[in-house]
Amino acid sequence: MIPFNIPPVTGRENEYIKQVIEGKRLSGDGPFTHQCSRWIEKHFNSPKVLLTTSCTHALEMAAILLDLKEGDEVIMPSYTFVSTANAFVLRGAKIVFVDIRPDTMNIDETLIEAAITERTKAIVPVHYAGVACEMDTIMKIALEHNLLVIEDAAQGVMSLYNGRALGTIGHLGCYSFHETKNYSSGEGGALLINDSTFIDRAEIIREKGTNRSRFLQGQVDKYTWVDIGSSYLPSELNAAYLFAQLELSEEINTNRLKSWNRYYKLLKPLENNNKIVLPYIPETCSHNAHMFYIKVKDVEERTSLIQYLKERKITSAFHYVPLHNSEAGEKHSTFYGKDVYTTKESERLIRLPLFFNIPEKDIDYICNQIHLFFSLSK
Ligand SMILES: *Cc1c(COP(=O)(O)O)cnc(C)c1O
Repeated sequence: MIPFNIPPVTGRENEYIKQVIEGKRLSGDGPFTHQCSRWIEKHFNSPKVLLTTSCTHALEMAAILLDLKEGDEVIMPSYTFVSTANAFVLRGAKIVFVDIRPDTMNIDETLIEAAITERTKAIVPVHYAGVACEMDTIMKIALEHNLLVIEDAAQGVMSLYNGRALGTIGHLGCYSFHETKNYSSGEGGALLINDSTFIDRAEIIREKGTNRSRFLQGQVDKYTWVDIGSSYLPSELNAAYLFAQLELSEEINTNRLKSWNRYYKLLKPLENNNKIVLPYIPETCSHNAHMFYIKVKDVEERTSLIQYLKERKITSAFHYVPLHNSEAGEKHSTFYGKDVYTTKESERLIRLPLFFNIPEKDIDYICNQIHLFFSLSK
């Protein structure tokens, strides 16, 4: 069976984890955590990066930093992972979904402004598949309406928008290092604090609402409970694993892009024959090959293609049942405007295996099988 994903291993993970064990310092904010945070700050040009236990937790920290009141509104796409919405619902916010663009599956930036009300506090663009949302437009709307922008860049590590790293454009950005993402520590994430007015409070929130981090830096002489917060620090073991991946991120990125481009080239004839739709990468974006997906005619065709591939030992996947159609979505959200594309396009999408060092022959085999499926079906 060709698996859907294999978490990347670069070869240095064992050595770094061994260093942590031998150093007898396993809790958070040790040397590897610092190396990872500094690496991200330097390579992506963010003033301050805090490693977290997950992207979900980075989003939760962002939501706390917004100081949301009951009934405040946050605008985002419905075609996303639950954590994008949950983080803000946990603070009492109401989620206002707007439709996506069918070409990138990202929030349609032209629909955001109409969804803004007196109660709107933030916009949360999600960079689906590591392909950038139209950030210039989104930042301009936010500035005009005095809103904050939190980028869900869980899938966007190493992607650029007009030369700027995803996650560094909004006031806050959130990364994921879950094992399904391009760079991983099993579970992990980061909060990128691009608006430096949030730095001090973010450090407090991450340290259980205490000023422990200022205490460790010698800025206060004792540490106490000063704000709400939780425990959002990953262990040094996770950071050591992650650092091995960040160091080789160029290699991983190049390798993934090569696989992505191979899929694209081999499947292009099917798009030319109007059998499928391939991903679209806007000129403003240089992407990180997080995912390779195709879109077929409808949900029935998708179901039969997934089954067809499974019988030929290929694991494919779909995801994101739009949040506004879900049980919790009905309670905590509204969909502003019409759902023209969110449901329809999500039902057409199927993801193909893509991971670091996926053999070329696997990609060739998968593409051949997809060609066969379409030559048999019509
Ligand atoms: C993976 C993902 C998350 C959650 O990341 P975790 O690190 O698993 O919490 C959030 N948003 C999007 C868009 C994701 O793809």
